[in-house]
Amino acid sequence: MGYRIGGIVRFYNHIHQSIAHPMTEEQKGILISTIKQNVQKIEELCEQCNVRPQNLPARSRVAYYYLKNFDEAQIKVGTPSEYPTAEPLLKPGFGEDKETSQLFQNLYAEMFNKTQPQIVVDYYPYSSVKSTIRSYGNVVYVRLSDVLKDAPNNVKKALAVILLCKLERVKCPLEQKRIYRNYLNTSQMLEAHNKIRKYRGEKIILSSKGHIYNLENIFERLNKHYFNGELKKPHLTWSEQKTHYRLGHEDSAMNTIVISKSLDHRNVPFYVVDYIMYHEMLHIKHGTTYKDSRRHVHTKEFKADERKFNRWRTAEEWLKHNRM
Ligand SMILES: [Zn+2]
Repeated sequence: MGYRIGGIVRFYNHIHQSIAHPMTEEQKGILISTIKQNVQKIEELCEQCNVRPQNLPARSRVAYYYLKNFDEAQIKVGTPSEYPTAEPLLKPGFGEDKETSQLFQNLYAEMFNKTQPQIVVDYYPYSSVKSTIRSYGNVVYVRLSDVLKDAPNNVKKALAVILLCKLERVKCPLEQKRIYRNYLNTSQMLEAHNKIRKYRGEKIILSSKGHIYNLENIFERLNKHYFNGELKKPHLTWSEQKTHYRLGHEDSAMNTIVISKSLDHRNVPFYVVDYIMYHEMLHIKHGTTYKDSRRHVHTKEFKADERKFNRWRTAEEWLKHNRM
């Protein structure tokens, strides 16, 4: 049985984003005390529930240990940028939305001629606009993305119909789907969606061993060939999801290179995976420079180095034609 404490991974990601940019001494102080408070809060919650932090689900556990052993040296002190810094995010949960629970309850009674379960609706800060419905015994738990909290009633009603149809495995009326979809396509919602993706996206180390390619071997080989074996090896991991736009990224705060799982495929030539890895390795070599207090990573020198890759042209060509 797993116990989860909502918000740990989100807080951890928020810390990463905050430390990617320089901050003032004062902001640094606030950030460090916020981390300490939240670590304490996590430990208190664990104790209340009689679990130890090492028994938390994998993502929360990784996040907890990172926060617990947070290295203050990672924080760059300097001119702050316009990016937001960390604020206490582990606030008490949102709790049940009684009104929306009642809406679901009423709709259930209207739609299905059978014993009514108890329905509990709450909100969760998912990293995308999604909602889930699950039944445990006689209780149905519905979690709506927190960005839907202020959605108009007809939209909530449409979503309720969609979720209840899913729960009961019946076909959902198209009209309700249309109402919900149109709402998601409003500019206000598209913007909210981008924002939560940006600030809540998760970064967790899974495995460097793929089905086809092993990132450890690739790193070692490239390190020897291009860097005299001098680059310090970071954590290497395939991404959790197949991403088609961003094929790799280097996170210096986390000391991690993430390569898109979409490249771990037999149709992808080895030199393409090599090339993406090489690019991320160059980020380690070149580091981040700040230009007008903005992050600047693909400098002229960076790009010149990139062209030293043996099959640079072939790899670029392949990516151009096969961008998945
Ligand atoms: Zn890059």
